[in-house]
Amino acid sequence: MVLMRQIDLLWELQKIDSRIGELEKEISMYSGKHKLREIKSRFDEEKNLLDKNEADLRETIKTARSNRAKAEELKNNYQKSEEKLYSGSISNAKQLEGMQKNLEEMQRNIQALENICKVCEDERKSLEGQIKESKKKLLKYKNSFNELKEKYSRGEEKAKAELEVLSKSREKLVYKIEDRVMDRYKRVRLGVQSAVVPIEDGKCSGCHMEILVIGMERLKDEEILNCETCGRILYMRSE
Ligand SMILES: [Zn+2]
Repeated sequence: MVLMRQIDLLWELQKIDSRIGELEKEISMYSGKHKLREIKSRFDEEKNLLDKNEADLRETIKTARSNRAKAEELKNNYQKSEEKLYSGSISNAKQLEGMQKNLEEMQRNIQALENICKVCEDERKSLEGQIKESKKKLLKYKNSFNELKEKYSRGEEKAKAELEVLSKSREKLVYKIEDRVMDRYKRVRLGVQSAVVPIEDGKCSGCHMEILVIGMERLKDEEILNCETCGRILYMRSE
């Protein structure tokens, strides 16, 4: 078994820590339930609208019904008055004229009531259309809420399981890393996520500045070296 250099251990540790960071973010997104709350609030809004429209619809139907009844009653009276007028039983001209006027007035009232019924009918159709749309939307919100909830709970479970495995690996790894090395890693990581960076073409891949020859020599002696410019820990891949 090849003994791993301290820097190799740090490189591994950083990979684990990056993944742990991602998982923690993911889990907090799942437990924050931000998107779920957003859907729920849209659902509630639509539900309020639906309740309001349903109440309005009941009111409209009631108004239509009572006006329809009044119109029917008036029509009945009109018919009776008309029959009486043309029955020939009344010969007094003044009385006839009064009845005629009365009939005209009734006719106008019937027309007014029927107009109200017509408006109610239009209102009813419009409300029924809106109610149908609201119900469709509510169903859609409910389904996407449930789907997302299911997805979140599965995602959270998976992320937590991975996090647990990684935490154990991390523990074992940290055990092999010397305290002074670990301290340096922690210190650099306070400022930047990528505390350990590979050297590429003789340059620090964190800040792209060249590593001095003396630095390269020290690295060969397996020293842990920070970049002179950005302070990151330099990683020379083992051949
Ligand atoms: Zn650098």
